[in-house]
Amino acid sequence: MNHTRRDFFSVMGLGALSLKNFLVGGEENNPSRAPLKLPKIANVKITDVDAYYYDLALLEPFKISIAEMKDALNVLVCLQTNQGIVGWGEAAPFPALTGDTQATSIAAAKDIAELVTGQDALNYGKIINAIHSFIPHNPCIKAAFDMALFDILGKVADLPLYKLLGGAKNSFETDLTISLHTPEETAIRGLEAVKKGFKTIKAKVGVSMESDVARIKALREAVGPEISIRIDANQGWSVPEAIKTLDRLTEYDIQLIEQPVSASDLAGLKQVRNSVKIPVMADEALFSPADALQIIKSEAADYLNIKLMKAGGILPSLKIAHLGEAAGLRCMVGCMNESNLSITAGAHLHASQSHIIFADLDTSFFLKVDPVIGGIKINNGIVTLPEQAGIGAEVDPIWLKKLKKAF
Ligand code: MG
Repeated sequence: MNHTRRDFFSVMGLGALSLKNFLVGGEENNPSRAPLKLPKIANVKITDVDAYYYDLALLEPFKISIAEMKDALNVLVCLQTNQGIVGWGEAAPFPALTGDTQATSIAAAKDIAELVTGQDALNYGKIINAIHSFIPHNPCIKAAFDMALFDILGKVADLPLYKLLGGAKNSFETDLTISLHTPEETAIRGLEAVKKGFKTIKAKVGVSMESDVARIKALREAVGPEISIRIDANQGWSVPEAIKTLDRLTEYDIQLIEQPVSASDLAGLKQVRNSVKIPVMADEALFSPADALQIIKSEAADYLNIKLMKAGGILPSLKIAHLGEAAGLRCMVGCMNESNLSITAGAHLHASQSHIIFADLDTSFFLKVDPVIGGIKINNGIVTLPEQAGIGAEVDPIWLKKLKKAF
């Protein structure tokens, strides 16, 4: 069972007295204005870690230029504490992009569980840095532990995570992604997205110049001039192909192109950026804060696409966002094939920072069943953040009972 700080105060006999009352010395509860003593939770010791195979069936295979995923084979992590507060996290490996799988994530989770057990979750930065020092790569399982720690932190503070992290906004727009299809099917999917209220569509490209131009031409003709179209080649083009194809696509009013060329070719990314009119966003080239620094120094991109599953969680993602802000590069928060648990964690990151202006947080729509209770709501393409403490999203207990424990 979850406990918030409000529950804690209640246990302490402080009834409905809220954190705000403590901070401002609320008159109703404190007519004498005598200084109130804030009961401190001295530590939130992690007592146990549970990990589950979190297999999520997709409505249809998700196809991009370099890979196809039939199902999302994710990992669910739960951190138990001595205060009864629990933190939830999700790892969503996309092997061709993130370099890890469900099996490798579970293997790493077992070792990381040993590392974090007995630690005070309030020392979250120390723990997250220890996880990153313990093992390089493995970003998805790191993200699961990181967001579970932030979930605990938000619950202790009795604040929704986006407010704890910066509180820039409580709603924003997301796109809806169309994976690789024929031009005709792309146009049909585009119209369906518009009917659902989305104002921005992200279309996958990166196959060949002729087929990519054909699918974007069909999409633009179907949705009309008012809808924003962003495209993502997922490294599918060579530098000359990217320049030629983007030149031809310019007439279709493209908002931005994600990762046109190989992740390892920053010079090529810069060459594309300098040669085309469509703004370039780094995605697969950007995992860590160090990658962000290289992209900024190389002047290789106009925008940064931050994903919890690439960066290894919220803390490194914030570092990337801050680097982007300092360098004047606006950011997107994107996702892998995630349930509404980690999608909501990503949404909190987005809502916490004003210079994160793009969102691609749509994969809940691709799942046969999203087993998460709470979390973000998306209506007409507008994401609304939950106001519960922490991430504000949990796997349905009935579902949870059916999940197989990993260790
Ligand atoms: Mg991308």
